[in-house]
Amino acid sequence: MTKWKKRLILSGIAAMLCAAILTGCGTSNSQSSGKDTGGSAQSTSADAGSAEQAAEQQKKVEEQKKKEEQEQAAKIPKGDKYIALTFDDGPTGNEGGRTERLLDGLKQRNAHATFFLCGYRVKDFNSMMKRYLAEGHEVGNHTMDHRLAHEVSDGDYEQVSSNNDLIQSYTGQKPTLFRPCGGEYNDSVQASMKQLGMPLILWDVDTLDWKYRDAASVKQHILDGAQDGAIVLEHDLYETTVEGVLAAIDELQQQGYAFVTVSELAKIKGVTLEPGQVYTGFTDEDLGLTAETDAAANSESTESTDSTANTQASDSTSN
Ligand SMILES: [Zn+2]
Repeated sequence: MTKWKKRLILSGIAAMLCAAILTGCGTSNSQSSGKDTGGSAQSTSADAGSAEQAAEQQKKVEEQKKKEEQEQAAKIPKGDKYIALTFDDGPTGNEGGRTERLLDGLKQRNAHATFFLCGYRVKDFNSMMKRYLAEGHEVGNHTMDHRLAHEVSDGDYEQVSSNNDLIQSYTGQKPTLFRPCGGEYNDSVQASMKQLGMPLILWDVDTLDWKYRDAASVKQHILDGAQDGAIVLEHDLYETTVEGVLAAIDELQQQGYAFVTVSELAKIKGVTLEPGQVYTGFTDEDLGLTAETDAAANSESTESTDSTANTQASDSTSN
């Protein structure tokens, strides 16, 4: 090999190395603006420009969000005391079905509620899916197939995330609340919900509507348990529930109660819902208990086991 040929090869290698280094430099520059060379000064000012645009855009988004929140707040029913009615295991029926009749009754009374939907029901009954959010209600997640915590190994993650997607495909919004089936949960469920960004919502008042199937009984359970900040459990599976709930609303509105969604109730009570945390309600007692159980982890685990044992029978029997 002649000397000049060697030189040619060497310079070729050098050129390739340079190209590789430059490419490398370009990549690292576009990712971090900390190591600027003269060549990337332009892109830095372009970055600054787009950063300004992004900040402007972000500001607009925040303003819009604030405006929407204000509009939403203006729509929250006003009262001296607040209750969150919750309906599990629906929807039930399409046109003329129970859920639709319930929605009509709530609308007439300017009452908001929270519906914890099961995906397998949404697949069958979805003709009123657009009504929930449009009429001020909240849509929560009650798993795809009504699976109890002990029946799943992944802490309900797949059951809940797939149901979130299904619900969003109809309402345009992903649910932010989870109601564990039968009120049953464990560390694994809580970890999954934390990952999904969802708090677990239980209840203060169980109407046992599935058990008695009697409108007067449903009404009486709600009246007996009525308390500022309470969450009430019902199922829009039964005609007697629709009738009993609407009768209870009429009476409680006379007493100064307003009916809001779970998220609205939390906000009214100044509670920030944390993903993976369990909430039974927002009464003074609930809020006091939450502080105690935070301090004493032992008493919390005893308590959640108790409430699971009590509630599991009720909700699972309802299906
Ligand atoms: Zn259920």
